[in-house]
Amino acid sequence: MNKYHDLYEEQKNVLFQNFLTVLKFPSVSADKAFHPQVHACADWLCDYMKDLGAKVEQITQYGLPVILADFFVDKSLPTVLFYGHYDVQPANDRELWFQDPFDPLFRDGKIFGRGVADDKGPIMMGLFAISLLKHFGKLPVNIKFVLEGEEESSGKALFDFVERESEKIKSDLVLCTDTGGFRTGRAAITYSTRGLVYKQIDLVGPSHDLHSGAYGGPVMPPTNALALILAGLFDAQGRINIPGVYDKVRPIDPDERKAYAQLEFDVERYKKHVGSNTLVCEPGFTPLEQNWCRPNLCVNGIVGGYTGQGPKTVLPSVASAKISMRLVPDQNPDEISQLLEKRIRELCPPGIRLEIKDFGRAEPFMGLRSGPAADAASEAIRTVYNAGPDLIREGGTIPILSHFAKYVNPNVLCLGFTGSECNTHGPNENLSLDAFDKGVETTCLFFELLAGRLRHS
Ligand SMILES: [Zn+2]
Repeated sequence: MNKYHDLYEEQKNVLFQNFLTVLKFPSVSADKAFHPQVHACADWLCDYMKDLGAKVEQITQYGLPVILADFFVDKSLPTVLFYGHYDVQPANDRELWFQDPFDPLFRDGKIFGRGVADDKGPIMMGLFAISLLKHFGKLPVNIKFVLEGEEESSGKALFDFVERESEKIKSDLVLCTDTGGFRTGRAAITYSTRGLVYKQIDLVGPSHDLHSGAYGGPVMPPTNALALILAGLFDAQGRINIPGVYDKVRPIDPDERKAYAQLEFDVERYKKHVGSNTLVCEPGFTPLEQNWCRPNLCVNGIVGGYTGQGPKTVLPSVASAKISMRLVPDQNPDEISQLLEKRIRELCPPGIRLEIKDFGRAEPFMGLRSGPAADAASEAIRTVYNAGPDLIREGGTIPILSHFAKYVNPNVLCLGFTGSECNTHGPNENLSLDAFDKGVETTCLFFELLAGRLRHS
């Protein structure tokens, strides 16, 4: 056992009151009606961090408050930037919860409530760690917290702040604990997330809907054109059929493959979970590798023609589809966006007017999985969990990570103490008390170990 464990056990009851308090703010950023509560939550966190000794600032000119809390110790020490978000997903599905989502409930060794795992729990793990570390004297490193209030509603406030005021958050390491774990009872280092390109294509054929018998033949239905375009973008083996799209895809390292093989990934359980007996993987790739390390194209929605009951012999005038692509290192979203558009235009048959709308893009992210900071994290995790971290990637997209890498420091480390069983974004979001406690202790040890290893630049 480590010294933080004993101290934490002693102070837990008092510290925990603060966790319960922060969970009670319905800080839902997606719904304007809740914005006063988002502000109230930010104010409370600022007061709490001031009490812990930080110099605190709320930046409000870009949107909902970005909180910057500086636990400065000494110029000669390295600085860690701790990222988190204090806003939460809506919880309008009250009837599916055991209890009011903003009135936290203890049950079966877990705590239930909106935001308990995503992301108020991980934020409080970090703040409790500060509190415990201070008990033993000065903090071992300078620590800055940057907490945003728009993560769950895809807001841009933090992005603007990071771009324009990056000198305020200059750091030697960015630490994100908003990523999850892979296996129950284990912690994880997520070192890569996928990027995103998203488009809508709108096709117009005849100027109005026509009789499919009277006009079918000489007039190209936009629905047929849509089918031609979409079918030309991928094949049945999961490969994307766009020239150049794979050119910059970084191959998987042998040591990554080894790490994935150790995850005890249960393919049969996965099949059951997704409700499909057959998984589509390119030759030579496992389902995990296909999801984490390979680009993907998904038609997210198709609209066109008659979709009501029974037949209607109509030759429709318009059709459209939404298409997203997930990108992996080192694909460039601007380049891929251009390649996708070019391919769509090539595939579009004559007689159709094509418009392409862009819904934005995000870079793929590649962070740390080795080196001094990752080693310190692994050692801290091994001490607390009696097992090293799972080294994983993530199929989803966390755009702020590549933003930090670009504007603050390429050394971005993502530690996950919460797992898929937490049901984040869903009803009865929960976190096991054991996972929370381990997260607190690991964070303490991690900061302590970093001090001797992270170089201050
Ligand atoms: Zn989150």
